[in-house]
Amino acid sequence: MSVSCDFVSLAVPGVQGLHPYQPGKPVEELQRELGLERISKLASNENPLGPSPKAMAAMRECLPQVARYPDGSGHALKAALSQHHGISADRITLGNGSNDVLDLIARAYLGPGREAVFSRYAFAVYPIATQAVGAEAVVVDAHPPEHAMPLGHDLQGMLAAVGEATRVVFIANPNNPTGTWLEAPALREFLCAVPATVLVVLDEAYLEYVQRLDFPDGSKWLDEFPNLIITRTFSKIHGLAGLRMGYSLSSPEVADVLNRVRQPFNGNSLALAAAEASLQDKEHVQRTANVNALGMEQLSKGFASLGLSHLPSAGNFLCVNLGQPADTVFQGLLQQGVIVRPVANYGLENFLRVSIGTAEENTHCLETLSRVLAS
Ligand SMILES: *Cc1c(COP(=O)(O)O)cnc(C)c1O
Repeated sequence: MSVSCDFVSLAVPGVQGLHPYQPGKPVEELQRELGLERISKLASNENPLGPSPKAMAAMRECLPQVARYPDGSGHALKAALSQHHGISADRITLGNGSNDVLDLIARAYLGPGREAVFSRYAFAVYPIATQAVGAEAVVVDAHPPEHAMPLGHDLQGMLAAVGEATRVVFIANPNNPTGTWLEAPALREFLCAVPATVLVVLDEAYLEYVQRLDFPDGSKWLDEFPNLIITRTFSKIHGLAGLRMGYSLSSPEVADVLNRVRQPFNGNSLALAAAEASLQDKEHVQRTANVNALGMEQLSKGFASLGLSHLPSAGNFLCVNLGQPADTVFQGLLQQGVIVRPVANYGLENFLRVSIGTAEENTHCLETLSRVLAS
């Protein structure tokens, strides 16, 4: 029987209200559309140096084995991570990207009648994961623009928003798309004050980029706070975004729960091998962090000389304020081969998020931006 029906209204209530995540435009698509030769993609906070050569070699070695299922327990990678972080392997949960881990947390601990607390302008996956399982998102106002950390997470406000139904708090440090961050004392104070039954997810996707000496590394606090979950990724400084590998560090009990809802083969063979090799290449990580620090200075100065300010950032991107709706400038940059990220979907209509690239890519971006603003 063929009857047309409204498949949206057949979906579970949380899913009906969702909008698909809008990823950055792929380079090939723009090349196809505009026939441009030179394209700088500074839209998805990827590593402009690419993956570690050690990761590439590990993948090549692994290729002939892809007819076999991957190691569903991720034994070798977990052993490497265990050593890297100095914590036991039973605290580690592997995900198909750390987004997968965020989803596992939502599926295991959220649902109808339960609430997740997070900040306005926090990472887009928190509302998606929350809403998809029918839980309530409690969005807390961020710091105002005139605050020392403009649009950053307001931990006191977030603590005040934690109620009877709260099961999870999502915190990104540093946050994407703003780049804003939280310092150790404030974060510790928050962890001490939050009820022990509320899971605090500390998303540290950009931690390796942070140059500040006093910056908190949440993995050091796991023994003290059994309700703490740290998420990390191989997509950012490790340059393996296309492979999808991320993980969480938590108490062994929480890891056990997350592993119950995890797809048995959520980490593919190439990703497992590349991540393990990448972890050993400390030089590549350091080189990337150095290129990022120089690029941050280059872009920051360049924006300033164009009369533009940006939000404070500890990540590998800058959220630049155009002082007017940014769409025209975004389109202008796109037409000339510079892909950046509009963040109007976050309620940041006047901003564009620019990932920090190589010196050449940053120059391309600044020169193009200067032309676009002048036209
Ligand atoms: C990029 C990013 C991630 C990582 O996502 P993956 O699924 O690991 O690629 C996680 N959290 C934040 C805040 C990010 O910006």
